Amino acid sequence: MDEAGADYIHIDVMDGHFVPNLTIGPVVVESIRKVSKKIFDVHLMIAPVDPFIEGFAKAGADIITFHPEAGPHPHRTVQLIKSFGKKAGISLNPATPIDVLDYLLPEIDLVLVMTVNPGFGGQKFIPLLDKIRTIRERIGNCGRAIDLEVDGGINAETAPEVIRNGADVLVAGTAIFKEKDYREAIQRLLN
Ligand code: ZN
Repeated sequence: MDEAGADYIHIDVMDGHFVPNLTIGPVVVESIRKVSKKIFDVHLMIAPVDPFIEGFAKAGADIITFHPEAGPHPHRTVQLIKSFGKKAGISLNPATPIDVLDYLLPEIDLVLVMTVNPGFGGQKFIPLLDKIRTIRERIGNCGRAIDLEVDGGINAETAPEVIRNGADVLVAGTAIFKEKDYREAIQRLLN
């Protein structure tokens, strides 16, 4: 993926509790850190989240993104991520309201809009285009450089729709991994 031209390496961390699947921990992040200098965009779908921030920060994450439902104090979690010199992101599930961002936008570096319910790859895109557009407007009003990332069901058909509505970072799993030629699949999305 590094050689094939990905800008970020997005790493989905699931705990079998906050989401119904179990994936990888800091040890694996540390291992893949050795083979890529790309930005590691670590998406934590775990609860509680605070006890694991240090581990992922030290394993080599560049951006640490969490779900506000993962703990009672999202602002404190942002502060904790930043205390390790990392960028902080907030991820919104399809049913999570945008208002949760109100007092966090001045502090964060990335908003991740989930366009599937988190837990599995290969799910069908939920067209939350109004939500993406509204968040883009709020980021504009805030005046800070905040990535607007979309995760879930992104492929060559859905990418133009989310970009038109203000997304500037796209997460693609199945759309890349199912292809034989990763470079061509990434290039198709970039185009
Ligand atoms: Zn993700």
